[in-house]
Amino acid sequence: MIKHALPVTRDADFAAWYQAVITEADMAEESGVRGCMVIRPWGYGIWERIQRLLDDRIKATGHDNCYFPLFIPLSYFEKEAEHVDGFAKEMAVVTHHRLIADGKGGLVPDPSAKLEEPLVVRPTSETVIGVAFARWVQSWRDLPVLINQWANVVRWEMRTRMFLRTAEFLWQEGHTAHATEAEAREETLRMVEVYRDFAETCVAMPVIVGEKPENERFPGAVGTWSIEAMMQDGKALQAGTSHFLGTNFSSAQGIRFQNKDGQLELAQTTSWGMSTRMIGGLIMVHGDDDGLRVPPRIAPWQIVIVPMLRDNDEDEALIAYAKDIQSNLSTLTALGEPVRALLDLKPAKPATKRWGWVKKGAPIVIEIGGRDMAGGNVSMIRRDRLYRDDGKLDSQVVLRGNFEADAPQLLADIQQALFDQADARLKANIAPVSDWSAIEAMFADGQRNPGWADVAWSKPTGTVLDAIVERLKALKLTLRNVPIGQTAHPDAACIFAGDPAVERVLVGRAY
Ligand code: AMP
Repeated sequence: MIKHALPVTRDADFAAWYQAVITEADMAEESGVRGCMVIRPWGYGIWERIQRLLDDRIKATGHDNCYFPLFIPLSYFEKEAEHVDGFAKEMAVVTHHRLIADGKGGLVPDPSAKLEEPLVVRPTSETVIGVAFARWVQSWRDLPVLINQWANVVRWEMRTRMFLRTAEFLWQEGHTAHATEAEAREETLRMVEVYRDFAETCVAMPVIVGEKPENERFPGAVGTWSIEAMMQDGKALQAGTSHFLGTNFSSAQGIRFQNKDGQLELAQTTSWGMSTRMIGGLIMVHGDDDGLRVPPRIAPWQIVIVPMLRDNDEDEALIAYAKDIQSNLSTLTALGEPVRALLDLKPAKPATKRWGWVKKGAPIVIEIGGRDMAGGNVSMIRRDRLYRDDGKLDSQVVLRGNFEADAPQLLADIQQALFDQADARLKANIAPVSDWSAIEAMFADGQRNPGWADVAWSKPTGTVLDAIVERLKALKLTLRNVPIGQTAHPDAACIFAGDPAVERVLVGRAY
């Protein structure tokens, strides 16, 4: 039996395991405000890598970054009925701008400092950005407008879980305006494809791209597309969304332009977002019973070098040897970027450091003791293959020159191995199901999640869809998305209503 580094395994209690990874890998902690977290350097370092790589892709598709205010006048929301309806129950509102003493040693809002209009702490910025678009857009020559912002947003979520669903979260939100519906729809799909590529290439997280059913649409959207990832417990995670907003926001905000024929038209808009939820997904897709495993592209440090210092005369030479390796590694390119190698000289026991980096999920840990140095070697641990078949820690002694030469390929291999494992799991756990009783059987156990069911349906809307959603709810199931590019068999019947099916939809439990 292997004694793992975490106090709880995935099998024993997946939710407790998830929380243990976050704590043991020093990623985040409670802040004193429910649903808001302190993101510690390792967690934030991963977010910075996500930002860097996603930002490159956002700019490569023609978008510019900008910044809008945190506070949005309530009246901006009230202009779009569906949007305000969707967000009203989770909006934080500022009503005063000054506090005064209450005479009992405390402070209370000063009644004379009441704001004329309440300000909403942004839950998302369509409304305020729409108002700016209305100023910026006059003629067809001003279109398209393609912008993005990196920001924090607040949604007063009642059931929160670190990274996956927090009251305050960090994200990017893209907002665009176009002259034609076709162009805006093309943009919506382009950006969900950017998310797919980013998730798969950078986070090594395979996803299914598809359109959300009507009941899961973003409030105010005409259509919402998502990437859905499968967690190791078989649940789905919506890891990014792209919305086609049609003219819903442009008519509310007055985004009009003169077309080439001199007539006034409403612009067609889109929005799309990906958040710190991605880090929760990363943990649940790649973590194991020893902690996190960070794909090399996303790892703040890809190779951590730990000299086994002993507080004796040999230490100086060991440090020099380790520094030399670090500087050689830093000149190399792996996965298209300079290798990120850290020399860990913190005053802690070597074994504590080793397991600390294992729990954090650094892709490669190099340990160097006196014997390694004497032989011109390093001892190497690959985080994606921690144990040998006999259950012993797989620490390999290799010539340092060979290690340095192989490091870029090794990092690429680890990136690929993590993707392949997750991809095999995703594919093995989506089952085509053709009748409702099979769904009931598949999800009979309310605790265990057997993955997702792939079913044919007739794409009902309105009250018919509502009834289906309720039926699914009884089994704790939700409609995930309608995968792009899949069609129902021409003879297939809708699993819910029995009428002819038009497409396939994924059904599963979700975070
Ligand atoms: P939305 O604007 O609702 O489409 O959200 C964009 C993306 O942000 C979603 O696809 C989620 O991945 C993520 N997200 C939504 N709500 C939260 C939350 N409470 N905490 C963290 N991430 C969230």
